[in-house]
Amino acid sequence: MTAQLIDGNALSKQLRTEVAQRAAALRTRGITPGLAVVLVGENPASQVYVRNKVKACEDGGLYSVLEKHPADLSEAALLARVEALNNDPAIHGILVQLPLPAHIDAQKVIEAIAPAKDVDGFHVASAGALMTGSSGFWPCTPYGCMKMLESIGYDLRGKHAVVIGRSNIVGKPMALMLLQKNATVTICHSATPDLKAMTLQADVIVAAVGKRNVLTADMVKPGAVVIDVGMNRNDEGKLCGDVDFAGVKEVAGYITPVPGGVGPMTITMLLVNTLEAAERG
Ligand code: NAP
Repeated sequence: MTAQLIDGNALSKQLRTEVAQRAAALRTRGITPGLAVVLVGENPASQVYVRNKVKACEDGGLYSVLEKHPADLSEAALLARVEALNNDPAIHGILVQLPLPAHIDAQKVIEAIAPAKDVDGFHVASAGALMTGSSGFWPCTPYGCMKMLESIGYDLRGKHAVVIGRSNIVGKPMALMLLQKNATVTICHSATPDLKAMTLQADVIVAAVGKRNVLTADMVKPGAVVIDVGMNRNDEGKLCGDVDFAGVKEVAGYITPVPGGVGPMTITMLLVNTLEAAERG
């Protein structure tokens, strides 16, 4: 069997068109959804990420500001900037690009963002809202994965979902979202003794590890849905995921590619969250 591809670029395009339409409707009421992206230091990967986020905002008719600060910006100065953005009525969403330089306590900075503007969904208030099923912002990457499942009309009720990885930004929120949709969820991590025994039982597998070939064809039940969050480089330096795509696509029912899968969806959900923040007012 050859799996059907869940195309993150195509789905993103569709969702971004909807965002642009909703943003246009807001503008007629005098509100332009605004995102502030704060970058500290010169991390090359971060620079690419923030550029892409700002460009996606512009394309979607959202207002965005990119604040670039030197790597030696003090924690106090960064907290002051976050506070100023919290109080800026033109800004509905605030994103502080991670990682931050070592002298800055990233969690402290995230907690300084007003929860109503926490469009990355990393604040404890957002995590608590997801945990309790109340209104808040969902972290963009797992939210994007949920949209991908929704796009194929997949009903998670009664299904077994296995999430590989338990980070606060991907694995744990992913598991909670799947649980909220009535899947039975197993979370695996580096201390899981027999990963294959777990994944072979799964109807849905989300791989969020950051290591190539964590999931191979022999670990996948025929017909399973496989979502690859990982971003790694192969021997030729090309972007690849955690999943052995060539092998797994012969076994899975659906699969997301890397690149062109979860990556574009992450930025798209950032736009969706920013728009929602502006709509909530
Ligand atoms: P992370 O914080 O490093 O977490 C990785 C998780 O994988 C940890 O929970 C770790 O377990 C687990 N793990 C490590 N080795 C394992 C193994 N052999 N078997 C099972 N589990 C294992 O990473 P992250 O921030 O969640 O990101 C994961 C990947 O997704 C990375 O490649 C990252 O670049 C990518 N990512 C992509 C996007 C996107 O937009 N496409 C967004 C975010 C992240 P322990 O907890 O026991 O250490």
